[in-house]
Amino acid sequence: MERSNQLYNKAKKIIPGGVNSPVRACKSVGCDPLFIKKGKGSKIYSVDGDEYIDLVLSWGPLILGHAHPEVVKAAKQALELGSSFGAPTPWEIEMAELITDAIPSIEMVRMVNSGTEATMSAIRLARGYTKREKIVKFIGCYHGHVDHLLAQAGSGVATYSIPGTPGVPEQIVQHTLLAEFNNIDGVKEIFEKHGEDIAGVIVEPIAGNMGLVLPKKDFLKGLREITSKYGSLLIFDEVITGFRFCYGGVQNIFGIEPDITCLGKIIGGGFPVGAFGGKREIMEHLAPTGDIYQAGTLSGNPVAMAAGIATLKILKNQDYKNLEDYTHNLVKELNNIFKEKSIPVRINQFGSAFTIFFTEKDKIKNFEDAKTTDTNRFSHFFVHMRNSKIFIPPSNFECMFTSFAHDLKDMDKIIDSVQRINL
Ligand SMILES: *Cc1c(COP(=O)(O)O)cnc(C)c1O
Repeated sequence: MERSNQLYNKAKKIIPGGVNSPVRACKSVGCDPLFIKKGKGSKIYSVDGDEYIDLVLSWGPLILGHAHPEVVKAAKQALELGSSFGAPTPWEIEMAELITDAIPSIEMVRMVNSGTEATMSAIRLARGYTKREKIVKFIGCYHGHVDHLLAQAGSGVATYSIPGTPGVPEQIVQHTLLAEFNNIDGVKEIFEKHGEDIAGVIVEPIAGNMGLVLPKKDFLKGLREITSKYGSLLIFDEVITGFRFCYGGVQNIFGIEPDITCLGKIIGGGFPVGAFGGKREIMEHLAPTGDIYQAGTLSGNPVAMAAGIATLKILKNQDYKNLEDYTHNLVKELNNIFKEKSIPVRINQFGSAFTIFFTEKDKIKNFEDAKTTDTNRFSHFFVHMRNSKIFIPPSNFECMFTSFAHDLKDMDKIIDSVQRINL
C-alpha cells in the first residue's frame, strides 16, 4: 500500500479529498483509497502491484470485465480516426439502433455523457412536455448528482448522511416530492393531492443504490397506472439495470413500459456515456425538432460509441443465465458460511448483482430497513476483503457486481476469503 498511500497524500493536496467522486475515498469504512494501475478481465492491479478480484467493476459498467480485447480494439480503431467531431457520425445511428432494438419502449434516443446528464435531461423533457413542475422521486433511489434529485438519495449521499446537500437552494427541491419505494398507497396519496402538477415519476425499477431492493409485485405496474391516469410521465432510471440483467432493461423482464428510460454505465463500455430515450412523440419535443433545449459538446463521442457498440454486440451473444447462476451459487456459499459462523446477514441478489447487509432482518424492503443495519460490521468486512485482495464497494448500499470475465477460480478465492473472516 506504500505507493498508493504516497499518491493519496499527493492527491489530497490538489484534488478535494484526493478523489474525483466521494465514495472512492473509502472514508465510510475507515480506509484509504487504492490507486489502480490497470485492469484485466476480473482483476485490477494496484500501483503497488497487488492483484485484486474486482467486484466493483467501475460501479457497474464493466460487465465484460476490464480491457476486453474487442472493446479495446474498437475504441482504438475509432480513436485513430479522430476523437471528436461535433458533427454526427454513423456510430451514433448504430448505437441508437442497438438501444431501440433491445428496449422496445425506446423509439428514439439521445446520447449524453453520464447517467447524471441522462436523468437531468429526462426530467427537463418531462417538465417541458407536460408543462408541469413537480417530480416524484423515491427515498433511497439515486439518480446521479442532479440538484433536484439529491434529496434522500441512496449510495454515496446516504453513506455520508448528507440530507440532500448544501448548495441546492430550497426553491429547487420544493418541486421534488418524496415517496417511499414499494409503497404504492403513498404514491396514490401524493397524486391525489398534486396529481395535476406532477410532470413525472422517476424510479430505479430495481433500487440498486439502497442495496438492491426489488420492486414488490405490482409496484411498478401501479406506478404505470397512476402516471397514465394523471397524464404524468413514468421515467425508469435504468442506468445500473440497463443490460445488467438481460440484453435490454429490467422493463423487458417486468413487462412494464415507461415513457422515458435513462441509461448509462454498461452502454458506454467503460467510457463516459449516458442516454435517455422513449416514445417518439415525447422525444421529438427536444431541440432541434422541438423547443426543449438539451445539448452536449462531446455527446455521442465516437470513441465512446465504438466501445459501447462493441460491448453491446458482445452482450447480445452472452448467456445472462450463466452469469446469474454463477452469482447465485456464490451468494449461496456466502450465506452458508455466515450461517455457520452465526453472523446474521441479509444478502440481496438479483442476476449478477448483490449486496451484503449485516442485520437480523429477513428482508430489506426500503431505505429505512437498509439504514438500520450494522455498518460497523460492514466496515470490518470491507477491511478483511481488501486484505484478502477482493475489491468491494465501501458501502453496503452499493452493489457488488460480477462480470462475464469472473470464473470459478475467482469464486473459490472469494469464498475462501469469507471463510477466513472473523467479525
Ligand atoms: C450511477 C447512476 C447514476 C449516475 O450516473 P453517473 O454516470 O455517475 O452520472 C444515475 N442513476 C443510477 C440509477 C445510477 O446507478
